[in-house]
Amino acid sequence: MRRIYLDHAATTPLHTSARGAMLPWLDCGNPSSLHEEGRRARQAIDQAREVLSARLGCLFAEVLFTSSGTEAANLAIIGSALANQDPVRKRILFSASEHHCVLHTQPILEKLGYRVEILPVDNVARVQLGGDSWEDVLLVSVMHANNELGTWQPVREVAEKSKSNGVLFHCDAVQTFGWYDWKVSDVDADLVTMSAHKLQGPKGVGAIYIRAGVKPQPISVGGGQEREVRAGTENVAAMVGFAAALNATTPSDTLAKRKARDAFLAGLPPSGWQLTAPLDQVLDGHAHVRFEGASAESMLILLDRMGVSASSGAACSSGSLEPSHVLLACGYSEAIAKEGLRFTFGPSSTLEDAQEAAQRVGEAAKKVRRD
Ligand code: PLP
Repeated sequence: MRRIYLDHAATTPLHTSARGAMLPWLDCGNPSSLHEEGRRARQAIDQAREVLSARLGCLFAEVLFTSSGTEAANLAIIGSALANQDPVRKRILFSASEHHCVLHTQPILEKLGYRVEILPVDNVARVQLGGDSWEDVLLVSVMHANNELGTWQPVREVAEKSKSNGVLFHCDAVQTFGWYDWKVSDVDADLVTMSAHKLQGPKGVGAIYIRAGVKPQPISVGGGQEREVRAGTENVAAMVGFAAALNATTPSDTLAKRKARDAFLAGLPPSGWQLTAPLDQVLDGHAHVRFEGASAESMLILLDRMGVSASSGAACSSGSLEPSHVLLACGYSEAIAKEGLRFTFGPSSTLEDAQEAAQRVGEAAKKVRRD
């Protein structure tokens, strides 16, 4: 049976050009060394940094590489908290639909003396800013688009309110970077974080844009790598692969994703399921659906056996799926939150695969409901 991969929001297949670009750099000098081998490795990193900064429309020196999107977000948030000298700015705000790499910094921030507040979201996971004053807020974290439902967030609104209150704005752009034609000036955040493996690059490499003048304190210390903000000998091949993947990923890919997604939805049974968020508010490759009365856990296990890889977007602990924190924040009950299924498409998803997957999903739902 042909397997059909519909979990591109979790990770994407490595692009052939990224693979090819990485191979010569799997074995190279230490970029901190002054000799020829070291200098060549340093040059490879600088070229990669140039590619990222050009796409972001920012200064070369404003982009640093990290080991992941998670580490980049941790650096943005914990690093800003550590660097803060202001005795009044002791609140940090996260939208309720942030990724765990943001939300799970809370206990660390509390140990540092901050109060973390969760901004509510509406029924499609869009953050609600409310009218309270942010004069005592250090940082707000709102993602560019949500990884579970795919919902675009009102980042300009967040940027405006942050700016007028002197608040740092961190935007987790892991799900949009590379696929959409935006510059840092469009998002207008002080800190923007990204990850290579979501855009056909290798796993284990991320990046952070830090607006000139903003100075998070390092959370990994040692050597002076990455402008003394992120110590550790660089993964040269991964950084080169990140840049190659970015060059290979274009906004026109989103059209292919959308076509596959739409063909999939058109092929689902005519009733018995619902879209969680309207398609005009979500990323082009995203379809988040709920089959009434069919648990996501049973659906995913059966679909895997039927050759379809999808996800619920929820964390797996001790063998059973937890209800998604995003769906709970949207106001769904635990039972309904446990029905959420995420199908995410990539540029290589064919219409034929999308239609075939829709058929298999329809069959799975029938079987699960009968059990
Ligand atoms: N932020 C979002 C929105 C994500 O979807 C992910 C990955 O699941 C991350 C952050 C974490 O990135 P990484 O896998 O590189 O740590």
